[in-house]
Amino acid sequence: MPEKQIAPKTRPTRINPTVRNALERLNDFGEIYCEYTPEQAVEEASRCIKCKDPACMKACPLHNNIKEWLTLVAEGRLIEAAASSRATSNMPEICGRICPQDRLCEGACVLGIKYDPVAIGPLERFINEHAFRHLGVIPAPELARPVGRRVAIVGAGPAGLSCAEELVKLGYRATVFEARPFPGGLLLYGIPSFKLEKRVVERRVEYLEEIGVEFACNTKIGDDPGIDDLLALGYEAIFISTGATVPKRPRMEGMDLAGIHDALPFLIRNNVPAKYLSPSDGAKDDLRGKTVVVLGGGDTAMDSVRTARRLGAARVICAYRRDEENMPGSRREVKAAKDEGIEFQWLTAPLAFIGDEKGLVKKVRCERMQLGAPDGEGRRRPEAIAGSEFDLPADFIVLAFGFDPAPLRNGDGRLRLTRWGTYEIDENKMTSWPGIFAGGDIARGADLLVTANKDGRDAALGIDRYLRNRRPL
Ligand SMILES: Cc1cc2nc3c(=O)[nH]c(=O)nc-3n(C[C@H](O)[C@H](O)[C@H](O)COP(=O)(O)OP(=O)(O)OC[C@H]3O[C@@H](n4cnc5c(N)ncnc54)[C@H](O)[C@@H]3O)c2cc1C
Ligand code: SF4
Repeated sequence: MPEKQIAPKTRPTRINPTVRNALERLNDFGEIYCEYTPEQAVEEASRCIKCKDPACMKACPLHNNIKEWLTLVAEGRLIEAAASSRATSNMPEICGRICPQDRLCEGACVLGIKYDPVAIGPLERFINEHAFRHLGVIPAPELARPVGRRVAIVGAGPAGLSCAEELVKLGYRATVFEARPFPGGLLLYGIPSFKLEKRVVERRVEYLEEIGVEFACNTKIGDDPGIDDLLALGYEAIFISTGATVPKRPRMEGMDLAGIHDALPFLIRNNVPAKYLSPSDGAKDDLRGKTVVVLGGGDTAMDSVRTARRLGAARVICAYRRDEENMPGSRREVKAAKDEGIEFQWLTAPLAFIGDEKGLVKKVRCERMQLGAPDGEGRRRPEAIAGSEFDLPADFIVLAFGFDPAPLRNGDGRLRLTRWGTYEIDENKMTSWPGIFAGGDIARGADLLVTANKDGRDAALGIDRYLRNRRPL
């Protein structure tokens, strides 16, 4: 039994990083978790019982060497621990901040059966910040001799950035084409600074430039230039990582009322510094004194409710059609939202929006749900309770129902899509068009930073294999 492995000396409770007071943190968009002291980190890492076959490493999509770096931290070898964490991850300081660890590494930690799991995420963040403070830079990796071949990457989110880094390490010239003014994808243009400060993403991008990744921002790949144009320019393979950011929009009465907003543009215009925005992103919202209703229950909904509070909303309500147990978002984010005064209406689905005579939204008509039989994925399906309609007051509504993929415009069918609109890919991440690869949200549907990172790494290896087979280096 796994419990037998638990050494009697292991402290049952974990040391969590200090969290900023909820009232204080609503005054700014800074990160809410403080960092460990080195002593706290050593003590927390010492709780690891060094399982023979660590479940945490299997549960991490990158299969990070968690046991190795926890051991190094426990021995006080913090810089070496950071180096170990960088060996399998392209952005460990970011994963440590925003991975839903309760569903991944920490959720699998054997200690968690009886006690608190080891705080793997906060430790991953700490060792990398500690190393940066001491070294002044993210250390450059070993780079292979240049092979004189070029690869294009379309989309500078975590999948594209990881693929570019791995290709440069293998000796390729990697150019990342990005539609936005700055690289980062959703890490910059979506995830709010109270989870991930922009300086952390900027630092990663500087590091990538330093090791030789080239960026062509403000360049949308589609019809002109398109894939054929990139091939004609001499790129021998292309990795598409354009993400899944097309909002799912329900068909509901009142959708045309003023005051109803899609979540991602709302997060972008209110969280991204002006220097990275285009005029079409719009101005910040002033929500002082307003009642905001956010519809949805994932990470995007949690980020939206918490952003609305920071913009001064008097009341913020999150309405979700399942219960708290069955929310897709990370437990940590739900707790942070509750601490910040967000009201939750569980088992609540919207039916229609109701406006006033000026066409401004004023209410959301909702109905209560109950959970029925499990669906194809094993999640209990919400079912409406007859006659349970009620109205929620609302001056401003944010729709956070999830996202569809954002494939390139490609009318000639050479890039085959699945029925979910993602690219069809093989085990090397190659699409139906030889030499064109895809990964991250565009290939798996809206998912996670860590899986995008993994796809980028795997695609770089797939591209390397493909190019070597085609014409040896
Ligand atoms: C609000 C929000 C909060 C989230 N919170 C978390 C979280 O806490 N933890 C977590 O693990 N995950 C979270 N996610 C999910 C995570 O951000 C994504 O899974 C991840 O960013 C996907 O990476 P990607 O590289 O595939 O795509 P993206 O990050 O979407 O990057 C795609 C890039 O491609 C560019 N692009 C698109 N089309 C073109 C084109 N035609 N030409 C050139 N460039 C193009 C885009 O501008 C963008 O920069 C969140 C997502 C959202 C929306
Ligand atoms: S990358 Fe994510 S899942 Fe893997 S160890 Fe780090 S925090 Fe855990």
